[in-house]
Amino acid sequence: YYDVLIVGAGHAGAQAGISLRQLGFEGSIAMVGDEKDPPYERPPLSKEYFAGDKSFDRILIRPASFWEERKIDMLLGHRVKSVDPVGKFVTVGGKETGGKETGDGEIGYGKLIWATGGSPRMLTCNGADAPNVHAVRRRDDVDAMMAKIDQINHVTVIGGGYIGLEAAAVLSKFGKKVVLLEALDRVLARVAGEELSRFYEAEHRAHGVDLRTGARMDCIEVSDGKATAVLMQDGERIATDMVIVGIGIIPETGPLIAAGAVGGNGVDVDEYCRTSLPDIYAVGDCAAHANSFARGAQIRLESVQNANDQAKTAVAHIMGKEEPYHAVPWFWSNQYDLKLQTVGLSTGHDQTILRGDPATRSFSVLYMKGGKLIALDCVNAVKDYVQGRAHVISGAVLDQAQLADPAVPLKEVDL
Ligand code: FAD
Repeated sequence: YYDVLIVGAGHAGAQAGISLRQLGFEGSIAMVGDEKDPPYERPPLSKEYFAGDKSFDRILIRPASFWEERKIDMLLGHRVKSVDPVGKFVTVGGKETGGKETGDGEIGYGKLIWATGGSPRMLTCNGADAPNVHAVRRRDDVDAMMAKIDQINHVTVIGGGYIGLEAAAVLSKFGKKVVLLEALDRVLARVAGEELSRFYEAEHRAHGVDLRTGARMDCIEVSDGKATAVLMQDGERIATDMVIVGIGIIPETGPLIAAGAVGGNGVDVDEYCRTSLPDIYAVGDCAAHANSFARGAQIRLESVQNANDQAKTAVAHIMGKEEPYHAVPWFWSNQYDLKLQTVGLSTGHDQTILRGDPATRSFSVLYMKGGKLIALDCVNAVKDYVQGRAHVISGAVLDQAQLADPAVPLKEVDL
């Protein structure tokens, strides 16, 4: 039995543990995680860790000793299989030790924090399960790719979201021949406006990536047990030594939904990150919440910001403080020498304003709704990112000519 049991040892789970002790929580805490490692940063998996610029030790969220010192029991390599919200216990799958499976066990809880993130959505076509078809979600995924990177030349990346684009940038830096296939008519279509999509498409092509939009793949050709080509619906055969799939995640909510929690795309939570089940919170990628920056829409956010801030909200509530979640969303992406920083959520914008010239490789795209700035994408433009934030939070109507003029600092734009 633990006073607080955290399920999932990723960003949100780690922050929950850190915040509990920071706020002086004295009860017992355990974290159950199905990966073998203590919590580590996931963003470097498609950036510095993949590129070999950072070792694994440097991406740990805290040194391994931290958890012991804070008296947070780490039950790593275990997976929670079911939740009993009436008896208030979870069933934890046994650990593989030396090929021997230890039995399932039960752990009781006072409060449960569900912080399980999501699993990569995989392709369902023929060949999708070949051993050289990889997702990029866990350290193990990247280690498996790196183990054979020297033996390969041609890589096909499926999906033009942030993860696919970042992976393509690293691989092209390694000198690999990269084909990137995006089914929609532009990359980043789900998260960014057209200016940004076109800019990144051009950058990747300039770095030698064969980036194709509107690309319709059919299946993966397998020979001798390995993926050898991606076959397109128009009959083209793209020979490949490795396939990387970055087409989104499916939130890990099975046991909670089976226990009766309300949810659909993720498990539904209120402004304190409470699920519909008593004493069970959900935080991070798996939690669907009404976000004030999405104008109240029920969404899941897949970002470190959201994982950390929701964990803090849930912990505050456990500690008796009612601090509703309305943190401003922010995100970043590194590709080549381009540092993209975003703030706010652009969904539902009715106008975009380009600030600066993309040809200089330093500019921002401002997303407006009803004359208000609701989000910004800043490429190598840290000042815009820092100064635009306050406008996104305030929701004031702004002078458009000034917004479009990079000579006027965003903090000086008239209301
Ligand atoms: P996770 O960090 O995924 O942690 C969940 C943990 O729970 C995992 O270890 C999982 O294995 C475990 N688990 C799942 N089910 C169970 C179970 N039943 N029992 C026990 N354990 C379980 N965000 C940014 O803001 N900026 C970026 O640049 C960025 N880049 C990214 C690049 C990559 C390659 C990836 C994969 C993600 C990136 N993200 C980025 C997103 C960010 O990493 C996630 O939003 C964040 O990790 C979410 O935290 P979480 O705790 O909800 O989930």
